[in-house]
Amino acid sequence: MAKMIIAGERVGAKSGKTIEVKDPATGEVVDTVPRADASDVDAAVEAAARAFPAWASTGGLQRAAIMQKAAELIRQHIDEIATLLTREQGMPLRNTKDQVGRVSAGLEYYAGLADKIRGDYVSLKEPEGSFGFVIKRPVGVIAAIAPWNFPLTLMANKVCPALAAGCTVVLKPASTTPLATLRCIELMHDAGLPKGVVNVVTGPGTEVGDALTGHPKVAKIAFTGQTETGMHIMGIAARGVKRITLELGGSDPAIVCDDADVEKAARAVAIDRFFNAGQACLAVKRLFVFPQVAEQFMQLISSRAQKLKVAPGMAEGAQMGPLHTAQQRTEVEAQVQDAVKRGAKVLAGGKRPEGAPYDTGNFYLPTVLRDVPEDSRMATEEVFGPALPIFVVKDLDEAIERANASRYGLGSSIFTRDLAKAKIAAERLDAGYTWVNTIKVAYDELPFGGVKYSGFGKEHGIEALDGYVERKSVVLAP
Ligand code: NAD
Repeated sequence: MAKMIIAGERVGAKSGKTIEVKDPATGEVVDTVPRADASDVDAAVEAAARAFPAWASTGGLQRAAIMQKAAELIRQHIDEIATLLTREQGMPLRNTKDQVGRVSAGLEYYAGLADKIRGDYVSLKEPEGSFGFVIKRPVGVIAAIAPWNFPLTLMANKVCPALAAGCTVVLKPASTTPLATLRCIELMHDAGLPKGVVNVVTGPGTEVGDALTGHPKVAKIAFTGQTETGMHIMGIAARGVKRITLELGGSDPAIVCDDADVEKAARAVAIDRFFNAGQACLAVKRLFVFPQVAEQFMQLISSRAQKLKVAPGMAEGAQMGPLHTAQQRTEVEAQVQDAVKRGAKVLAGGKRPEGAPYDTGNFYLPTVLRDVPEDSRMATEEVFGPALPIFVVKDLDEAIERANASRYGLGSSIFTRDLAKAKIAAERLDAGYTWVNTIKVAYDELPFGGVKYSGFGKEHGIEALDGYVERKSVVLAP
């Protein structure tokens, strides 16, 4: 049985209860983890609070050295961790290897910033000869909550800047994907992370979530997950006046203009939409295409969807694995059926694959639909699975207006050879990111985060550090 990590020790739940972690491709039990309750959460937060003063006053270079060493150790264990991640999450092994690599890259990026957090000097007129400093202090204990779709990178987006800033952390992975995360945090301890600096509690969010986010010693909540969960957490944060970063749902638009390189667009959209079986916050979830290139684009994207190798994540050459849970697949099926009932036409997929090895897992074929009505669920809700609705629009104004009609505003993209169109889209699309003529990648170097119901606050980039420090003004008079 895997164990939680509290105060540097590997521990079970005080209640002795456990939960099974299952492989989405086979339904087999991969391992069990403790089912924490409020008393375990309290022990973890207390451990983080005890560790905070020493970690906060550890020099930036020393913190960086531990983070660098952790990055190296995690990279050395890439095969082991990627296998755990594929087995618990479902994503093909080639993708999970990349995910593990991104944890190391995140540790290295923020290790590089750990000794560069500094303040400002301001000269003041009154009293004469006085001056002010703006100093940055670590926020305190962070509750870091990650979802199941990219368990490692979304954990690293919180833990790496928190460590660099001198904060301590209680981490809660999704109850279905705790294993690879636990292994990474174990390796961070092997790299010299002091006890209590990062603690991990495992269990369903509905059971341990409120105990963690409402704990009086938690200063900030860094959350990634569904918008509805984020709203609930924001209510709890409000009662404790806690700092909060919310990375929530998305329904990203992509616009393919009449002057686009249509092949390039089809390739990028296919990668974005079907990566991780469509379970990505940043996936293209609504596609707006100009009429002049609509038929060509639909033909190209459907053909790419049909050629994707759908297989268990551990299978050789797998390009798309199963959906993470049966419930997730049922949800996507219902959204597709709703569109079809209202007149949409299926260009690819639209059903489960049949026969072995598909019968034991939550598989669904890469799906493309055209003539999707504007009031259908696929147009108005987040589609968290491998299904792409295509809408034909007459021009850029209509595309942007319909793109912005969503309650979400996470990512967005446009394919055009016309720089003027790209500039208009970048300025007018309601989103935290606009990609032009390229595949969506959340770069370590650039701030990432949504607007509207997609949340607020930034992860990635130097900007993420702002979420883990408080600015304090100090005035010195002679
Ligand atoms: P979810 O909200 O169900 O769960 C996310 C995490 O929150 C899990 O660890 C869960 O256990 C925990 N949780 C649940 N209830 C809680 C509570 N009351 N208090 C505290 N924690 C609680 O989300 P999910 O279904 O796991 O993730 C998919 C969603 O996440 C999608 O909407 C997707 O778009 C979004 N997402 C957003 C980003 C982003 O960066 N904006 C990235 C990835 C995923």
